[in-house]
Amino acid sequence: MSNHKSKEIRLKKRPVGMPQPGDFEVAEVNVPNPGPGQVLVRNSYMTVDPYMRGRMVDRKSYVPPFQIGEALQGGAIGHVVTSNNDKFKPGDIVQNFNGWREWFVSNGNDIQPQQMIPGTKLGDYLGALGMPGMTAYAGLLRVGELKDGERVFVSAASGAVGQIVCQIAKAKGCYVVGSVGSDEKAAYLTKDLGVDKAINYKTTKDLQAAIAGAFPEGIDVYFENVGGAHLQAALNVMRPFGRIPLCGMIDMYNAVEPPPGPNNLAMAIGNQLTIKGFIVSSHNDLMPKFIEDMSRWMKEGKMKWRETIYDGIERAPEAFIGLFKGENTGKALVRVGPDKAV
Ligand code: NDP
Repeated sequence: MSNHKSKEIRLKKRPVGMPQPGDFEVAEVNVPNPGPGQVLVRNSYMTVDPYMRGRMVDRKSYVPPFQIGEALQGGAIGHVVTSNNDKFKPGDIVQNFNGWREWFVSNGNDIQPQQMIPGTKLGDYLGALGMPGMTAYAGLLRVGELKDGERVFVSAASGAVGQIVCQIAKAKGCYVVGSVGSDEKAAYLTKDLGVDKAINYKTTKDLQAAIAGAFPEGIDVYFENVGGAHLQAALNVMRPFGRIPLCGMIDMYNAVEPPPGPNNLAMAIGNQLTIKGFIVSSHNDLMPKFIEDMSRWMKEGKMKWRETIYDGIERAPEAFIGLFKGENTGKALVRVGPDKAV
C-alpha cells in the first residue's frame, strides 16, 4: 500500500429532480503503489458537467449509468507522481477520465499527455481548450454550418460552452445575442465578450418577444443549450433555412416526467430548418484545427473565458448542483490538488 490516501466522491443514491448534497458521499481509499508498467497520478482539477446528470439515471444512453456506491467519473487533469511506465515520467501533465478523486493508479492507457499552450493554465484544458470548447467549435461551425456575418442566438451563453460559442461567432463577424440567468452574466457577455445583446431570461417578462425584438431579421443559427421555452421561442424567430444545432437541453435534465416538446415544431417545415443533435466526441477529428483556430483567436485578443473554481474535492457535489442553479460563470471546475507537481 502506498502512503497516499485519496478522497473520492461516490453516488449514494440516484437523484430525483434537482440533485441534493445527500445524493453524494465522500469516501477515503488507500492508493496502491504503482506496479510494473503503472503510473501514480495526482489530479489537480476535475470538471463538473451537465451531462453527468444523465449518467445518474439508471437507463441506457450513449454513456453507461453511474453505479450507486462507486466513485463517479469525469474529466480531470493532473500530474504523474511516480511512473513505472516508459511513456511517462514524474511531473508529466496528463488528462484523464478519473475525475471525482484525488489520486489514482493507471496502466498508462487511460491517461493522455497534455501539451500546454504558453500562457494557459491547467484548468483551461477542461474548459475553453478542452471538451466544452470543442463542443462550441464543432457544434457551431460543423453542425450549425455557420457562415460569416450571420445572426446567431445562444442560450446558456455565459457557461463553459456558451461563452466560446459567442466568441467564435463574433470572430466570424456575426451578430450575436445571448440568453443568461442574471444581469451580471449579461454584462459579462456584452462588456467582456463583445456580444451584441444579452437577454436575462429570468427577469424578461416575455422571452419570445425579447428574442424577436433582438432579431428583427430573424435567427440564422440558434445554438441550443437549454431547450424548453427557449427552443419554443427561438423556433418562432428562425429565418428560412436556419440551423439549430442541438447541443443540450439543461432545462429538462432534472425533470421527473419528460416535459412536452415544443408545440410549434411545424415552424421547422415552412422555414426548412435543419435541427441536428450532436455529441462532441464524434467530432474529435477537428481537434488540431480547433487548437490552431483557438490559438490564433487568443493571440488576436478575440478569445477569453472565465471559470468558477470550487476548492476541495468535498465541494464537487456543490459545484455540480450549482450548474442547474446558474451558480457558475464560464467553466465550473473543482480544484482537487496542487497546480504544480509536488
Ligand atoms: P454551463 O457551464 O453552461 O452550466 C450550465 C448553465 O446552464 C448554468 O450556469 C445556467 O446558466 C444554465 N441553466 C441551468 N439550468 C437552466 C435552465 N433550466 N434554463 C436555462 N438555463 C439554465 O454548462 P456547459 O457549458 O458545460 O453545458 C451547456 C449545455 O451544453 C448543456 O446543456 C450540456 O448538456 C451541453 N453539452 C453538450 C455536449 C454535447 O456533446 N452535445 C458537450 C458539452 C455540453 P444561467 O445562469 O444563464 O441560467
